[in-house]
Amino acid sequence: MGLVVQKYGGSSVADAEGIKRVAKRIVDAKKNGHQVVVVVSAMGDTTDELIDLAEQVSPMPAGREFDMLLTAGERISMALLAMAIKNLGHEAQSFTGSQAGVITDSVHNKARIIDVTPGRIRTALDEGNIAIVAGFQGVSADSKDITTLGRGGSDTTAVALAAALDAGVCEIYTDVDGVFTADPRVVKKARKIDWISSEDMLELAASGSKVLLHRCVEYARRYDIPIHVRSSFSGLPGTWVSNENPQGDAQVEHAIISGVAHDVSEAKITVVGVPDKPGEAAAIFRAIADAEINIDMIVQNVSAASTGLTDISFTLPKAEGHKAIDALEKAKDRIGFDSLRYDDQIGKISLVGAGMKTNPGVTASFFQALSDAGVNIELISTSEIRISVVTRQDDVNEAVRAVHTAFGLDSDNDEAVVYGGTGR
Ligand code: ADP
Ligand code: ASP
Ligand code: MG
Repeated sequence: MGLVVQKYGGSSVADAEGIKRVAKRIVDAKKNGHQVVVVVSAMGDTTDELIDLAEQVSPMPAGREFDMLLTAGERISMALLAMAIKNLGHEAQSFTGSQAGVITDSVHNKARIIDVTPGRIRTALDEGNIAIVAGFQGVSADSKDITTLGRGGSDTTAVALAAALDAGVCEIYTDVDGVFTADPRVVKKARKIDWISSEDMLELAASGSKVLLHRCVEYARRYDIPIHVRSSFSGLPGTWVSNENPQGDAQVEHAIISGVAHDVSEAKITVVGVPDKPGEAAAIFRAIADAEINIDMIVQNVSAASTGLTDISFTLPKAEGHKAIDALEKAKDRIGFDSLRYDDQIGKISLVGAGMKTNPGVTASFFQALSDAGVNIELISTSEIRISVVTRQDDVNEAVRAVHTAFGLDSDNDEAVVYGGTGR
């Protein structure tokens, strides 16, 4: 018994039926004696539809107005959910991010939470209400404008509120039964994980497993908030994500590999004909950083002795592709490269597991599995607990399945269930 924060994703509240089903779950938690704070996402694919709409009226919508538009999606679901709960005879109040005290910096479309002051939520709870908070949004401390936290940001809202309210757990309800060893939409034989360390989850999320947003996992790790990822469609226990294994460290040694992640949201830029001398990489990545673009992998080729020129390739979110090309074109004379190549038909596959630190041969087996599946590798990057490769986008699903099987991750039991959502 205590305070619980529950977050329901868009697929869980996709229509009126979904909202009523979720309302019942929330009321059950309240009846069990909990104080309940709910964070809710926009219904179904509403956010994508609002983005499409914005792009039809303006190819580059201004950040402030774009945020104003997108936060409307969560307002719709929070109000409907509060109504559905009241209809079941319980008191509920909905709050925008700003009303809930989610204070951010002023970077529109990808604001960072800098403080959470949930005074109104506390009051609502003390008065016996269920508090419903619109996810993925806040208010800028400086400009007082409404901001959004970036795609998938409701996960972060939930953990931030759980930390500020000292909740015992943050429950993330979604359309699958927990975190699996691979995306169940791609690997039917994916296995549900009972517990995963924050460290491995962070790496999976950063590598494209969108079941949890990496910033939410980062936040939970910092404030030591256990996350329970589970389905809002089934009553099954899900996956616990926490810093310490509740069953002790003995279990940790067994899991060499936690899972396989994939990501098809990135593009690759190759800067062709860069003079091979000090300062060139700095100039290229300064131009990219000044445009506020985050990059992922980088490779520099060996320069051809005859020309003294080299190529530098890097990956970045597709959504930032045009901005990056513009920034580099503007700096072309200063940097002194020949040309740029842009490729948005790439995909990334990553193998994640803390156990790989102490198990030689993981890398070789990974490359062997890809080679057996006939998949060509274009870029490679590694960390202590992850290996990632870039391939053709068309090869990604096949590659994920091959690696999953090669590392013995396939489940012997039932197929993984996907209860809803469009996977968009
Ligand atoms: P929500 O609308 O609840 O936020 P998301 O679509 O953001 O849901 O995240 C849930 C989806 O994440 C699942 O439907 C699944 O396709 C995808 N996913 C990717 N990798 C994994 C994984 N390793 N385990 C579970 N789901 C995953
Ligand atoms: N509705 C937002 C999105 O689709 C935020 C979220 O669902 O977490 O990205
Ligand atoms: Mg999500």
